[in-house]
Amino acid sequence: MYQRLVKPLWQRIAISLCLLGSLGIVAHAQAGALAKGRHGGLAPDIHAQRLERQVCEAWLPRLPGVTMGLCRTAGLDATGGRSVLGRPLYRVEVRAKQPKLRVLVVGGIHGDELTSAGLVLRWLQLTRDDPADAYWRFIPVLNPDGLLATPANRVNANRVDLNRNMPTHNWEVETKKYWEVRTRKDPRRWPGPAAGSEPETQFLINEINTFSPDLIVSIHAPYGILDFDGALPPPEKLGRLHLDRLGVYPGSVGNYGSLEYHVPVVTVELVHALEPPTDVEARNMLRDLNTWMGLRLLEPAPSQQQASSVAGEAR
Ligand SMILES: [Zn+2]
Repeated sequence: MYQRLVKPLWQRIAISLCLLGSLGIVAHAQAGALAKGRHGGLAPDIHAQRLERQVCEAWLPRLPGVTMGLCRTAGLDATGGRSVLGRPLYRVEVRAKQPKLRVLVVGGIHGDELTSAGLVLRWLQLTRDDPADAYWRFIPVLNPDGLLATPANRVNANRVDLNRNMPTHNWEVETKKYWEVRTRKDPRRWPGPAAGSEPETQFLINEINTFSPDLIVSIHAPYGILDFDGALPPPEKLGRLHLDRLGVYPGSVGNYGSLEYHVPVVTVELVHALEPPTDVEARNMLRDLNTWMGLRLLEPAPSQQQASSVAGEAR
């Protein structure tokens, strides 16, 4: 009840801040205008470059280890999706000539895990050199309002934990129970007023439905481990991160992807939220992911195929 009373007031405050053009919002709103074809008489490519620079200038102070050059050559594509405060949600696609599987990589779900979005930008540049037989779709920042809040915030502008808002089975009961009992109503982990209530969550669900990934990779920090949801044998490690299953989080991307959408979900928990992995570590993690994908998704052993199909039926 408390949350229901507070939310409209918070939204009103948030919208007022938006109108004041706080950090990055002007650039993002303009980028949205580009997506609709309004570019004030400038040639579209010049306008796109200008907007790209403005978006990167807003992001960069929050993305340790990311240079302006890396951000501006990412090829950010305004999708039409928007955050609570109206910031466009971007994606980037990298495609092998003859891709054999589709991989969706999602970063910046929690806005205060700053290294997450940076790793997505670095991985997308690395996959341009070696896409490893995959068709990649990268969403660097799912929660731009949290990333650009002062201070950066885990939750979105409605104070919802997006990684508890995905419409998983029995969401009403399970997320409420988890939030009340396990987190003792931690405001940073509020699952929201309803399953899939948030525009960022709806955007991600739509991306999953339209892209039809064979694998989802969800990037977080700072637990320094690797988590896995799905029926396949999991990767044992990515770089220095080793498998350590955290358990089931109702409403999470891992829970949704594996149980509702029936694709494996690799959840990366980087060691630090503020200090990015080194270039070598970022490369090693991607190398290990590609090795595992080749082993388990491209050339599964016959016994594994059987086990996977049985598990799929059981779900
Ligand atoms: Zn997180």
